[in-house]
Amino acid sequence: MRKVPSRNTIPEIALRKALWAAGLRYRIHLRVGGRETIDIAFPGCRVGVLVDGCFWHSCPSHKATTFGGPNARLWQAKLARTIERDHDFGRRLVMAGWQVLRFWECEIRSNVDRICDEIVRTVHMA
Ligand SMILES: [Zn+2]
Repeated sequence: MRKVPSRNTIPEIALRKALWAAGLRYRIHLRVGGRETIDIAFPGCRVGVLVDGCFWHSCPSHKATTFGGPNARLWQAKLARTIERDHDFGRRLVMAGWQVLRFWECEIRSNVDRICDEIVRTVHMA
């Protein structure tokens, strides 16, 4: 459920291509129990990359994402639940022994090389 609205976004695909070019091999949308999936997973060393959609996860750099109109409260509640569920998923992964790296879509869009390096280093050290 968590990633369905933002699966296979352009930043996520760009990051996967960069990781592949750096020689890493990964699984995408790996399900590890429950309904949530890890966007980019390295199951051998238990490193998981979660890509947060700026809209669905209320990115702080995109405060412009506020809602007006009669459904504003409903939307805000829905987004708050999405964030809560997602953080809960991250905690469960850590408890299961995963190292979790989490990036915003907009961060990836502007820094794909730096983020790729960070993941490569984490995977190599894990
Ligand atoms: Zn953002």
